[in-house]
Amino acid sequence: MPRLFGTFGVRGIANVDLTPELAFELGISLATYLGNRGKVAVGYDNRTSSEMLENACVSGLLSGGCDVLRLGMVPTPVLSFAVTHFDCSAGVIITASHNPPQWNGIKFWKEDGGSFPHTEEFEIERLIEEKRWRMVEWQRVGRTQRADAISPYLEALLERVPPVSRELKVVIDCANATGSLVTPLLLRKLGCKVISLNCQVDGTFPGRMPEPTPENLQGLSSAVRTYGADVGLAQDGDADRAVVVNERGEVMVGDRTFALVALHYLKGRVSPKIVTTVATSSVIDEVARRLGGTVVRTRVGEPEIVAEIRARGGDLGGEENGGTIFPAWSLARDGIMTIAQFVSALAESGLKVTELDATLPRFYQIKKKVECPNELKVRVLEKLREEFSGYRLNTIDGLRIDFPDGWLLLRPSGTEPIFRCFSEATTQERARELVEMGLSKLREVLKSLGA
Ligand code: MG
Repeated sequence: MPRLFGTFGVRGIANVDLTPELAFELGISLATYLGNRGKVAVGYDNRTSSEMLENACVSGLLSGGCDVLRLGMVPTPVLSFAVTHFDCSAGVIITASHNPPQWNGIKFWKEDGGSFPHTEEFEIERLIEEKRWRMVEWQRVGRTQRADAISPYLEALLERVPPVSRELKVVIDCANATGSLVTPLLLRKLGCKVISLNCQVDGTFPGRMPEPTPENLQGLSSAVRTYGADVGLAQDGDADRAVVVNERGEVMVGDRTFALVALHYLKGRVSPKIVTTVATSSVIDEVARRLGGTVVRTRVGEPEIVAEIRARGGDLGGEENGGTIFPAWSLARDGIMTIAQFVSALAESGLKVTELDATLPRFYQIKKKVECPNELKVRVLEKLREEFSGYRLNTIDGLRIDFPDGWLLLRPSGTEPIFRCFSEATTQERARELVEMGLSKLREVLKSLGA
């Protein structure tokens, strides 16, 4: 049986892969895992199948003896906030984040507001596979209660982020998803002049697809230019990620918004520790240098960053896809807090987005991939290590080769039969040279292994 849990919980097409039966089994297995007691916060996104899956999952939790705090439709960061705010034993969010509308997903949260580590997801998976979940006796079946989590979330966030120091004209594009319920209001409360785009919730995503790629953000880009806005802001389907569009309508890469947010948010902190993955731009090293702090690199993926912060602490976590974790606020990626921090950084700087961006050194990145059968990945990696043995290597995740003017990352995909090849350098030519070096070594090694 294939693994149920992927990189971000269980995902699949609603009523095909992700059925009410499976949602029930996930609910009752979580209850069993929690010892058939405790209170679980449950929220869902605005997909057409979310209410159906929520009802089934809540049934599972109740029949497993857990009480359920029903939050209704909320963005993922609000669910994570609610778990700690309402002292819950765990949380469940029904969402497929950036996937197309026919998809849905279920993800579990720990009592500290961070996502379940993979090891614990596998334990739940085993309970399901072996049908070892436990229903409680009739007297011990759980009860539900409803709660509004959005108001306390907004209140708590506004206690931490003061109103902007100058009025900014912002365009916010929530993809007709759950960010619509929070982010436009938050921006208004922060003192911004807000133009909202795709901010009526609609589970068919009529405005744009929920993945915030440059292609999907063309409407936002042109709105920024048409309205002469200072900045464009976009969220993915569950608002745990944020993407920034500059005043020219150009989409910024996640590494750089993460770096600018880090510079602003960590200012004044003594030796801050930034946790990020091996795939993040060196621009974050420059930010840490300016702050007198350190960068700790982890394997790729949000759970890896959370695991490092849980184990050894950290002041800020982030990924190159625009997901940022503010541990003093929440252990989950929060695209709403990211937006609040970015507009506050922008207002305080007195600069345009492009000017603020230009305060950081420029790096050029190239991202490529090569097909590689799954069964060869381990041997390919071993061979590559030998090939590059004379260089400065980082082997946390795949192979990262550091050069004085850039780096090359060769990493097998965890989900697809491909090997990724990323390069970054201070010039475009050097980035191309490095990626070519990586690709030719990869092809050479694959050939030598008979692929
Ligand atoms: Mg997401």
